[in-house]
Amino acid sequence: MNKQGKIVVLSAPSGCGKSTIIGRLLQEPDALPLQFSVSATNRSPRPGETDGVSYHFLSTEQFRDAVRAGEFIEWEEVYPGRYYGTLRSEIDSKIAAGHNVVLDVDVKGALSVKRIYGPQALTLFIQPPSVQELRRRLEARATDAPEVIDQRVGKAEYELSFAPQFDESVVNDHLDTAVEEARTIITNHLNS
Ligand code: ADP
Ligand code: 5GP
Repeated sequence: MNKQGKIVVLSAPSGCGKSTIIGRLLQEPDALPLQFSVSATNRSPRPGETDGVSYHFLSTEQFRDAVRAGEFIEWEEVYPGRYYGTLRSEIDSKIAAGHNVVLDVDVKGALSVKRIYGPQALTLFIQPPSVQELRRRLEARATDAPEVIDQRVGKAEYELSFAPQFDESVVNDHLDTAVEEARTIITNHLNS
């Protein structure tokens, strides 16, 4: 029988650089052997996001149906009226086949995955250098309306209080350094 794959869960307040870091870790030439778990959400796609690649974009009704059908390992209302969830179909068949998966989920989702999978899962928290720098990055990314940025920065301090419950954490100040620290932590987990 195949050895089961491992799970890596990255979490951080919005704008801390999770997507950037995951993108770098999955890129050649030093790509880690990780498959990205594509979450489902009822939010609208941002420019450049593709259905089935960035997220499975569902209507609110479709999301509720999937909840009722037990299709999620975990799901959260991360922002008012905005639902996000990890589909069983994205994880269980991959790890059963021996593939490792990486998840980008909010802090509560990360701790739920850890509760379910125990030592098979590594939770890694990405910290911003400061809340001011987090706001600057969200403004520079220019993908969200000002009130959405206020909402995300407002939630960041609450989310940062979850960091001690994670297995590991990395400060994303200089991107290259953060990527290398994350790579080392994840490689150790995959080899454990
Ligand atoms: P998240 O996925 O956590 O919401 P992103 O990866 O989209 O965050 O990063 C938010 C913004 O900050 C993006 O515009 C990204 O290019 C930028 N960014 C990421 N890491 C750094 C860094 N170390 N220094 C400066 N800007 C960064
Ligand atoms: P965004 O809208 O910026 O893509 O994501 C907003 C937040 O939702 C981020 O903190 C992201 O990690 C989280 N998120 C994305 N997918 C999931 C998921 O499947 N489950 C949970 N709990 N959170 C998710």
